[in-house]
Amino acid sequence: MPTPDSCPSKRHLLKALGGGVSLALMGLHAPALLANTPTESLFGLGVASGEPHPQGFTIWTRLTQDLSKAPLLANMPVRWEVSRDSQFKSIVRHGSSMAQAAWGHSVHVDLVGLEPSTPYWYRFNAMAEHSSTGRTRTTPSVDALEPLNFVIASCQRWDQGHYAAWKHIVKEEPDLVLFLGDYIYEYGPIEGRVRMHEGPRVTRLEQYRARYAQYKSDPALQAAHAIAPWMSIWDDHEVDDDYAGLQGADLQIDFQRQRNEAYQAYWENMPLPMSMRPQLINGKVEMTLFRRTDWGRLAKIHFLDDRQYRDPQVCPKPGKGGSNVVKRSECLALQDASRTILGMQQEQWLARGWDLQRPWNLLAQQTLMSPLSWGSTAAPELGSYWTDGWDGYPHARARLLDSIAQRKVNGVVTLGGDVHAHFVSDLKSNFDDPSSRTLATEFCGTSISSAGVDNALLQKLKPWSPHLKYARSDQRGYMSFSVTQQLLTARVMALGDVNNPDSPIATAATYVVDPLLAGAQSA
Ligand code: FE
Ligand code: CA
Repeated sequence: MPTPDSCPSKRHLLKALGGGVSLALMGLHAPALLANTPTESLFGLGVASGEPHPQGFTIWTRLTQDLSKAPLLANMPVRWEVSRDSQFKSIVRHGSSMAQAAWGHSVHVDLVGLEPSTPYWYRFNAMAEHSSTGRTRTTPSVDALEPLNFVIASCQRWDQGHYAAWKHIVKEEPDLVLFLGDYIYEYGPIEGRVRMHEGPRVTRLEQYRARYAQYKSDPALQAAHAIAPWMSIWDDHEVDDDYAGLQGADLQIDFQRQRNEAYQAYWENMPLPMSMRPQLINGKVEMTLFRRTDWGRLAKIHFLDDRQYRDPQVCPKPGKGGSNVVKRSECLALQDASRTILGMQQEQWLARGWDLQRPWNLLAQQTLMSPLSWGSTAAPELGSYWTDGWDGYPHARARLLDSIAQRKVNGVVTLGGDVHAHFVSDLKSNFDDPSSRTLATEFCGTSISSAGVDNALLQKLKPWSPHLKYARSDQRGYMSFSVTQQLLTARVMALGDVNNPDSPIATAATYVVDPLLAGAQSA
C-alpha cells in the first residue's frame, strides 16, 4: 500500500543504562539471562542468534570501537561459548572466530552437533570483555510433533516510534522471531520526531553500518535478539525505498553499487550463517535469502525474497521508477503474464517445494498478498492498485496460488509485513469472485513503529475487497502465533502508544485456522 514512507553519542548512553534496562525488560522471565551485561561498549550492539535447525543455529555479534580501548585491528579474535545453562557451568561448545574489518567486525558462528528441541545460552569475549548473554534454541527433530510459538514483526522505523513492541515480544518468549523486512530505514534526519536518524540518507557501506548500529543501540531490540532465534528476510528499506532488482526508485546512477553495499551490511548485521555471506559475481553482489526451515513434522516455513529478482514496477510516475497507484483499466502492463516478483527460479523453487506431508506450510514473505483496491467502487475491474506489492504482479500471484490449488497443499498460511497495517484475509482462487474457493490464509502484520496510512480511508476502502476480514492501519505492534497439529491461533497485537517506550499492549483480535480448511475464523 502507498505507505507514508514514500511521502515524505548513544554508545555512552547505552553504557550508562546497560544492564539495568535490559534486566527490567526481561522481568522475571529470565533473571540470569543478562547476568554478564557489558559495562564496556565493545559489544554495544548486543548479540543475536538465528537460522535454527535440529542440531544447531548461528550466533552473531559485531564489535564496535570501545573508546577506552585500543583501536580495533583489521582482524580481531573473538572467543565464544555455548552452554546448556545461563551461568555457563555446562559449556558444550567453545572456540574462537575472527572478526574482520572487511566484514564490519561481525562474527557469525555456525553451531552443529547439538541436541534438538533444546535451549542454549551463548556469549562472546574479546579484549578481556564479555558480551551480554543470549538465549536460543534448536528446532525439533524431523520426526517430532511439537507445538510452535512464534511472532512476526516488521518495519521498525527509528524516527516514527519507540520499540515497546519488542519488550512485549521478549515477555512472550517465543520459540522463533520472524522478521519480515524494513529492519532499518535509509532516510536522513527529520526534525520534530520522537527520535531522529543520525547522518544523511544512507547510500554507502559505512553509512549502512552506522545506521544498523543506531537501530541496534536500542535495548528493547537487543533484548528481542537475545531471547530467541530469528529468521529474517529483507524488504526495500534495507537498501532503498521501492527498489526493484537492480533499479532504484529514483533511477539512481550506480544503484548496483548501493545495493551491493547494502546487501553486505545486511549480512554483517543479521544472525545469518557463513553460507549466506554475499558473493561478488561480475560486479554484482548476490545473496540467496530464500530458504526453508522445518519445525519437526509440524510445519515447513518457506522464506521468500521479493526484492532481489523482481521486474520493475509497471506504469511508474513520469521520469521515475518505483511504485505508483494505477487504475487496472489504464495500466495494460499489469496484464503482462511474463512479469515476476520472485524471479522464475525462486517461483519454481517454491512451487516444487510445497510440503505435502506436514500439516502446515507457513509462507514468510514481505508484503500484503491480497488485492486491495484503492478505487471507490465495488467493481474490481474499475479498481486502482498499488504497483509495489503483489497487486503490481497479479499474474505472479495467480501462479503462486495456482500451485497451491494444483498440488492440493493444505495448511498454507502466508505471513507478511511492509504495509504498516494489520490484515487478516482469505487468499482466493479468483479475487474478483467472492464465492470462489479460499486456497490459503493470510496474516499480514503491522509495523513495530513505522507510521501507517489514514485508517479512516482504509475503512472506507475495505468493503471493496471482501476477502479482507481485518484491516487496521492505526495499530502498531506485531502478530503472535501458536501452532499445533490441529489448529493455528493468531493474535493481533496492538500497542497503546508507539511514542511511549513502555507502552502497554492489547490483543485486538484473535483468529484460528484449521489446517484442512483455508481461511481464518474469528475466535
Ligand atoms: Fe516499512
Ligand atoms: Ca517496505
